[in-house]
Amino acid sequence: MGKQITGIRGMNDLYGSEVEAFDYLLAQAQQTLHQYGYQSIRLPIVEKTELFARSIGEVTDIVEKEMYTFADRNGDSLTLRPEGTAGCVRAVIENGLTHNQVQKLYYSGPMFRYERPQKGRYRQFHQLGVEVFGLSEADIDAELIAMTARLWEKLGLENLELQINSLGSQEARQAYRDKLVAYLLEHEAHLDEDSLRRLQTNPLRILDSKNPDMKALIEGAPKLLEHLDEESKAHFEALKTYLDDLGIDYVVNPNLVRGLDYYNRTVFEWVTTELGAQGTVCAGGRYDGLVEQIGGKATPAVGFAMGLERLTALLMDKQLVPAHTDADLYLVLVGEQVNRPGIVIAEKLRDDFPALNVQMNCGGGSFKSQFKKADKSGARYAIILGDQEVQDQTVAVKPLRDTTEQATLRWDELSAYLKPLFA
Ligand code: ATP
Ligand code: MG
Repeated sequence: MGKQITGIRGMNDLYGSEVEAFDYLLAQAQQTLHQYGYQSIRLPIVEKTELFARSIGEVTDIVEKEMYTFADRNGDSLTLRPEGTAGCVRAVIENGLTHNQVQKLYYSGPMFRYERPQKGRYRQFHQLGVEVFGLSEADIDAELIAMTARLWEKLGLENLELQINSLGSQEARQAYRDKLVAYLLEHEAHLDEDSLRRLQTNPLRILDSKNPDMKALIEGAPKLLEHLDEESKAHFEALKTYLDDLGIDYVVNPNLVRGLDYYNRTVFEWVTTELGAQGTVCAGGRYDGLVEQIGGKATPAVGFAMGLERLTALLMDKQLVPAHTDADLYLVLVGEQVNRPGIVIAEKLRDDFPALNVQMNCGGGSFKSQFKKADKSGARYAIILGDQEVQDQTVAVKPLRDTTEQATLRWDELSAYLKPLFA
């Protein structure tokens, strides 16, 4: 026997009830997205490293220490995508999708970050990302948020808190940056190692620190929200008004800055206290400068990404996933001559009842063991075929969940008999 080979730390296999919850979540999300006119886009998992460095920002956790970067065989530096926005922006530029048109797009799939694995934080995880290109006003920001709120409602998720903030314009942030640096320099002794380094390169990042020792210091810092440019202020006020009109509760969190550099104006997160430390299940915002920064024509944009593992965990904890679809019919096949007609009957049933789950017993076994499996499958009826039935070209239909009588039917009568039972 060969030595067992294990998977990679932080990269999980999804199976059983977890994958059921995951697929259920995706299906509900997709339905909601279609309600709002979003279209699917499928993007490569690997991109040039430069794309992420330039969009996410050189001085961010992701680019500094979390990317899976490797040399392609021809020497190009490639990276497994740590998030989806950069690739999506590249794709819309490259395919000319933003020329005089609005795009409302979504995608889902694995993302890769070299983080310390723990509950709700993995090295391969999945996001559902949504991006809108070509709209600059706050109405679309509000619609995006309303769409997520609708999805939570559809899923039965309560107690998610919406936090919003505005990062203003590039210029406003530049002016604010000086005030922030002055404040942080006053308290230099309390800065951790990461923050000291970022003081020079990207001081706003310090506000995003997850270090609890920095919390008090960050809370005392001057607020970007109080240094917004007039236009961004009006944009943020409009967003709040829309949310008020829609009855969507929110908390303004002036320290919400997000871990990526490309955001401006609206940023938001949906947060739960029910998953421990990893409480953000959906996060996004506006990134009006990014398309131009990656070489496209200036195009306003806004989007978000949901963390599918975290949402799946919530759905499972709260038992919000409907039971998986049981079998409807189970073919019990016992005898020497039963397999060849059995497989034909099963296919005929699938032809006649496309909506039903038809399970055929494979691999033989006694009546007793097959009935056990039939019962476990959740099927409403067992269709029984033995050598005698094959001789007579009949089957027995035995109810497993209700009190209708067992019946014997000719093969050519079977579907007509079952039809009213599944009407
Ligand atoms: P966090 O603050 O939790 O590190 P983030 O700001 O790095 O999150 P984003 O880049 O905004 O996260 O990604 C959007 C969502 O993807 C997060 O809100 C979270 O739900 C999920 N997510 C991010 N990183 C991971 C990870 N390593 N494992 C599982 N889910 C993740
Ligand atoms: Mg992170």
